Amino acid sequence: MPDTRSCLFCQIARGEIPAKIVVNNKEMIAFRDINPQAPTHILIVPKKHIGSLDDLTDSDLVGRMMTLAAALARQEGIAKTGYRTVINTGKDGGQSVDHLHVHLLGGRHMTWPPG
Ligand code: AMP
Repeated sequence: MPDTRSCLFCQIARGEIPAKIVVNNKEMIAFRDINPQAPTHILIVPKKHIGSLDDLTDSDLVGRMMTLAAALARQEGIAKTGYRTVINTGKDGGQSVDHLHVHLLGGRHMTWPPG
């Protein structure tokens, strides 16, 4: 069993740690990244603790996370110019918080390949 008491994103979802929240519904929370890498940088996080994409069993959940990301991109006014959605997984993927999340990044031109 994961220790959700000490999980940063579980603590944000429970309201124990403040965040700039943009969506808070039954299943998900979305909030602005504390260290934004683009003018819009929002994290879309399921309230249920899932360590990473590697732990995912509900395949529809990521679809709902991506649908919310697209809705937020429209709300942020970046849908027409474009944006990037990213899921970092594990050490080599650059994941630093062990709770599944989608990054929504936009408002500037993105380069490829990522670093
Ligand atoms: P990742 O490296 O893909 O696991 O992404 C974790 C993200 O969480 C990073 O972009 C961090 O800047 C962000 N982050 C860490 N702590 C907080 C916090 N307290 N509030 C909002 N975002 C955070």
